[in-house]
Amino acid sequence: MNDRQAQLRRLPSVDSLLARSPTDELIAVYGRELVVQAIRTQLEGARQAILAAAPVDACESALLQGIESILRRRQKSTLRSVINATGVIIHTNLGRALLSESAQAAVGAAARAYNSLEFDLDTGKRGSRLAQASDILRDLTGAEDALVVNNNASALILILSALAKEREVIISRGQLVEIGGGFRIPAIMRESGARLVEVGTTNRTRISDYADALTDAAAMILRVHSSNFKQVGFVEQPALSELTALAGERGLLAIDDLGSGALIDTAQFGLEHEPTIQESIAAGFDLVCFSGDKLLGGPQAGIIAGKSAALSRLKRHPLARALRVDKLTYAALIATLEHYRRGEALDEIPVWRMISRSLDDIRRTAERWAGQVGGFVVSGESTVGGGSLPGAALPTALLAMESESPNGFLEALRRADPPVIARIAENRVLLDPRTVLPVQEADLLAALQSIV
Ligand SMILES: *Cc1c(COP(=O)(O)O)cnc(C)c1O
Repeated sequence: MNDRQAQLRRLPSVDSLLARSPTDELIAVYGRELVVQAIRTQLEGARQAILAAAPVDACESALLQGIESILRRRQKSTLRSVINATGVIIHTNLGRALLSESAQAAVGAAARAYNSLEFDLDTGKRGSRLAQASDILRDLTGAEDALVVNNNASALILILSALAKEREVIISRGQLVEIGGGFRIPAIMRESGARLVEVGTTNRTRISDYADALTDAAAMILRVHSSNFKQVGFVEQPALSELTALAGERGLLAIDDLGSGALIDTAQFGLEHEPTIQESIAAGFDLVCFSGDKLLGGPQAGIIAGKSAALSRLKRHPLARALRVDKLTYAALIATLEHYRRGEALDEIPVWRMISRSLDDIRRTAERWAGQVGGFVVSGESTVGGGSLPGAALPTALLAMESESPNGFLEALRRADPPVIARIAENRVLLDPRTVLPVQEADLLAALQSIV
């Protein structure tokens, strides 16, 4: 006991640690307040360990080391800007779509000043949070109405909870997908109280499979875009119009989870044709849902577009309030959608600017990089990512760096400020200019220079 008290007494005070010269350096980097907090945390940890008779190195240098690692961990856990040199355009781990400049400005403006989110400036009365976004979505997609929720996963939960609770939802076995992060269609169904009825086989589902499965308990036919994987070979799915016709005949709802939801035809860039929102609306689906931050190129959101009758049922459901989005999301989404309405999406929306960037332009950039930091240029492929267009690739030019230890090189790039994320293939570190913003080039080159 005495021994423990002696140990406790020997622990330095906060002030004495603050007075040490290594602490000055930490204060210069992290600021005094965070350093004081870290000292307190470290001393409290040591005190607890002594009281619990656990082994603890309470000498000053060990304490200072502990303090520094608390600060480093803390900094790591904050959201940092990174340079994406992977060539994956919609990179879910790196925050998916980047916002256009006017979407960024709209977010800033909405954050700074009060706004007309729920205020009708003509009448001076309470207005609808949705009106402006719905107007543009109607124009762009041909839908009768639209609703915006937190993300596409919540769009599906709302649709199933509001329209299929304790009823049957018919879905092809080939579409019972896991989107990622444990988000599985069958689990979503269970959570929302809908009963899943699987039809067809993994590779082939015909319209007669759907027709044969319909009972009085059926509420909807759900189609789910198989986003992140691709079936090739002996495969068959009914045409969109066959699904909507069958649903119409039997008085059921036809719902299309498009996942990415493109407004622009990807085929013009040599990619496969990603189903567009307009096509599904034109095929007669009651509701079509898709993400805001995949191919749309906007903020995280789930957008539900379609017929007024089904949408008004969704809007009345209590979950709609729980899943609603904030003003910053509306600001960014409206600004993004405006680019499509003005026909400038390819130039203004980063996702589309990266998709449509020419190979020549990318190659010139890669060659300029090689001229400055060494390495050489090789041909390769960029991918769209974000669960859209699986297996589809855009031809690109890459800066390839040779290294004794490619993994060590990659790690050094991640430790740069800002961190650079790249990839390795055939024992070389590869950097794809397609996803690197022009304003980031100087930092990227400085990071490479300091490593080689
Ligand atoms: C990505 C995706 C989702 C989930 O969308 P989030 O916006 O990430 O919630 C749902 N369904 C499909 C088919 C998807 O591709």
